[in-house]
Amino acid sequence: MDQNRLYERILGLSQPWYVSSVELNEASGEITVEVDLIDGILLLCPKCGKSCPRYDHRPRKWRHLDTCQFQTLIRSDVPRINCPEHGALTIQVPWAEDSSRYTQLFEGSVIGWLQETSIRAVSRRLGLSWSAIDGIMARAVKRGLKRRGTLDATRLAVDETSFRKGHDYVTIVSNQHGRVLAVEEGKSSSSLAQYYKSLSPAQRVKVESISMDMSPAFQKATLEYIPDAKRKIAFDHFHIAQSLLEALNVTRKSELLQVDQSLRKHAHQTRYHWMRNRHTLDIQQKSQLDALVCQLSDTALVWYFKEKARDIWKGNRVRGATTAWREWIGLAKASAIKPLQVTAGHIEKNLWGILNAMRLQASNALAEAINSKIRILRVKAHGYRNKERFKRAILFHFGGLSLEPTH
Ligand SMILES: [Zn+2]
Repeated sequence: MDQNRLYERILGLSQPWYVSSVELNEASGEITVEVDLIDGILLLCPKCGKSCPRYDHRPRKWRHLDTCQFQTLIRSDVPRINCPEHGALTIQVPWAEDSSRYTQLFEGSVIGWLQETSIRAVSRRLGLSWSAIDGIMARAVKRGLKRRGTLDATRLAVDETSFRKGHDYVTIVSNQHGRVLAVEEGKSSSSLAQYYKSLSPAQRVKVESISMDMSPAFQKATLEYIPDAKRKIAFDHFHIAQSLLEALNVTRKSELLQVDQSLRKHAHQTRYHWMRNRHTLDIQQKSQLDALVCQLSDTALVWYFKEKARDIWKGNRVRGATTAWREWIGLAKASAIKPLQVTAGHIEKNLWGILNAMRLQASNALAEAINSKIRILRVKAHGYRNKERFKRAILFHFGGLSLEPTH
């Protein structure tokens, strides 16, 4: 087999395309494979498929997978046809997509690497610029979204994540299978509305639950677009636990200032024990807390309410839950501990959504897991230069998309 035929096999070329020469440039470390079209072949319009006369040609180059240590390029004079209806158009080559400067096999391998490692590493190893990689990711996501079709959107979770630390946000909608369905600009009511608008009326009716934090923005959009939303909006336990932990920390910190100096260090050492579930504490940790109960009585009380709230939740007594929560709220409000009273008021106001979450067994756990993976992604990328790239990266990694070019 001569080298031209060998490269035809490697590139998977078949008639009317053939390799006319292979050149090795040792100085630049490049192999250039020249690909031509058989003379006199019928050329088809890429838009309508009609056979059209040749118009002219455009010299083009694509990077392909390396041959041993040599960067390998395909070069070809690609004909343009003159379609009576669509004008002058470049014909489609079988080894690359539209305007890409890389072959499908090369793009496929970049996509594979990006799934394994950081953009930085891929850029260094393959000698690609960040914008070249971004172009490959953009085509991959576009392809994946086009192929994706309709996804299961019956049980949704909505969450927000920041694009840069403390700045700018995006809203992430995911489903019960942990797939990101959409990444929308901002974290307002219209951010989520943007996603709901992409659903058909029938799909909106089919939505069974939407798990979210207790912020009014997401509620507003959901009430507006999802039929019977008042029975579908679910406030996950995670958010209640979070708000109780905050109350606990605020109480502990302010109480710490009033205790005897000699106790302060000891009390500080227990700061994480209070936050944990009592079943997970060992005997020593329990006795450390017991020793502080008298001095930190408010903290101990808030801790008790936190544990009690989890019991109500985990008890799964949907029927008795309303009464249990009402009792809890009443006692918490009577506690005279300001941060606990505020949290109790918050829970009272949102009790309907908390009860929905219990009844629907809706959880934000998967959405929270995606969110922490996104944070890791952002750290690994040392932040993203613009928001479009960030949104794209989320869909690339967590959209469950089929990203590879077809070959
Ligand atoms: Zn045409």
